[in-house]
Amino acid sequence: MSDGYETVIGLEIHAELSTESKIFCGCQNAFGAAPNTLCCPVCTGLPGALPVLNAQVVEYAVKMGLALGCHINTLSWMDRKHYFYPDLPKAYQISQNDRPLCETGQLQYLVGGQPRHLGITRIHIEEDAGKLLHDAATDTTLIDYNRCGVPLIEIVTEPDLRSADEAKAAMEEITRILLALGISDARMQEGSIRADVNVSVRPKGQAAYGVRNELKNINSFGAVHRAIVHEAARQRQILAKGGVIGQETRRWNDLEKTSVVLRTKEETHDYRFFPEPDLPPFEVPEKTIMALSAQIPELPATKTLRYQQAYALPPDDALLLAGRKPFADFFEAAVALRKAAPRQLANWLLGDVSKLLNEHRAELGDTRLTPDKLVTLVEAIDAGTISGTAGKQVLEHIISKDTSVETAIEMLGLKQVSDAETLNTLVNSVIRENPAAVADWRAGKKQAQGFLLGRCIKASGGRANPQVTASLLRQVLDDICE
Ligand code: ADP
Ligand code: MG
Ligand code: ZN
Repeated sequence: MSDGYETVIGLEIHAELSTESKIFCGCQNAFGAAPNTLCCPVCTGLPGALPVLNAQVVEYAVKMGLALGCHINTLSWMDRKHYFYPDLPKAYQISQNDRPLCETGQLQYLVGGQPRHLGITRIHIEEDAGKLLHDAATDTTLIDYNRCGVPLIEIVTEPDLRSADEAKAAMEEITRILLALGISDARMQEGSIRADVNVSVRPKGQAAYGVRNELKNINSFGAVHRAIVHEAARQRQILAKGGVIGQETRRWNDLEKTSVVLRTKEETHDYRFFPEPDLPPFEVPEKTIMALSAQIPELPATKTLRYQQAYALPPDDALLLAGRKPFADFFEAAVALRKAAPRQLANWLLGDVSKLLNEHRAELGDTRLTPDKLVTLVEAIDAGTISGTAGKQVLEHIISKDTSVETAIEMLGLKQVSDAETLNTLVNSVIRENPAAVADWRAGKKQAQGFLLGRCIKASGGRANPQVTASLLRQVLDDICE
C-alpha cells in the first residue's frame, strides 16, 4: 500500500511440542483421544498434586532456540500466570515470564527466493490449556482437558515484519523448522500451531511505532495473512479520518473477515506472575547445549538458497523440496547419482511423484521408489528408450512394486520404437488408411501432418519415437507429392 503509511507486525507463535508425555506429568501427549481420557491430578490441577518438569520439553525448546540463533539461559525457571477461564482448571498457567529459556535470536526466511531476517525476542516453554467445545444443539459448553499440560513453546518476534506476505512467509518458515527439528507435528488444522498477530501502522519515515492491536489465536497461514491485511486497512482508515488507534486485543473471525474487541488496554489482565513454588529453577548445562547444537540440521531456508544456487532451481521448487526432509534427502541422493539433471529430477519429484503420493495418501518413504530408480527412469527418457508419457506409466509401476525400471519397461511393453524399418511400415500404413488427411496436406493444410503423426503414435500404442516418426512421415509425404 503506497498511501504514506507503513504496516508493522510482530508475532507470538505457540507451537505444541511432540514429546511423548506432557510437560509436568506422565500423561500421554496425543491428539484425538476420547475427551478427558489423558488426564491426571497434575495436569488438571487437583490440590496437592506436584508437577515435575519433563526434560524432553526443555531439550526440544533449546533445539528451537539454537536453530534460531538464540542465547540459551543456562539457568531459568517457571512462573505462574494467573487468570480465570474454564479451560484452565488450576486458574493459573505454568509459563515463563522473567527468565525465558531462549532469548535474542534471528530467523532467516525467504520471500520470492530472497532472504529476509526477523528478530526473535524470546522463546519460552509453558503448558497448554484445555479445549472448550460449544455444543449448539444443547447450547452448552463442553470441556476436554486432554490438552491441559501439553507442552508449548511460545516464540515471540520483534516487530520487524512489514507486510502480511512477510508475516505469512516467516510463520511458514518457523513451521518448516519445527518439522525439520522433529520437535512438533506443526499441524495447523489440529491447532498445534497458533499465532497472536500484533499489528500497527505509522506514517512512513516516522521512527516511533504506532499503537498496536493484537489479534488472538489465529490458526492458519491464510488466516494470518487475511487478518493482517484487514487490520492494517482498518487502522489506516481510522488514521485517515483523523482518528486515534486504541490499544486493543481483538478476535479475528476468519469466516466473516471481521474482528471484534475482546478487551481494551484498560481491561488488560494483571497476571500476578510469580516464580512457580512447586518447581525449582532448572539448569541447562553448557555441555547439553553443545550436544544439542551438534544435532541441528541445515535449516530449510538455507537449504532452499543452496538449491537455488547450486542446482539453478526456481525459488518455489527449491522451497518445496527443501521444506520436506524426505524429499530433500531423496533429491540430493538422486542428484549425486546424476549431476546433469537436477531440474528434471525436481520436476519429477514435485510433479508426478507428488501427485501419486497424494492419490495414495502415502509418504515418499512408504513407497518402493529409490533415488536410483528415478535416475534410471530419467535416463531412459533422455536416451529415447521410452517416451515421457510412457515414463509416467513406468513411475506408477516402480513406485509401488519392487521392480527395476528396465523390467517395468519390458513388462509394460513401453520400449520406444526408433527402428527406421518398423516405423516406415507404420507410417506407410497410416498414410494408406488416411487418404483424406493426405489430400489435405497436398492442398497445403500443413496441420494434416500433425494429425497423421498422432495416428502413427496411436497405432504404435504410444511406443513410436515421435522425432524419428515425424521425420520419416515428412519424407514419405514429400515423396508422394513429387
Ligand atoms: P505482550 O506480552 O503484552 O503481548 P510484548 O511487548 O511482549 O507484549 O509484545 C508482543 C508482540 O507485539 C511482539 O511480537 C512484538 O514484536 C509486537 N509489537 C510490539 N509493539 C508493536 C507495534 N507497535 N506494532 C506491532 N507489533 C508490535
Ligand atoms: Mg501478547
Ligand atoms: Zn497428567
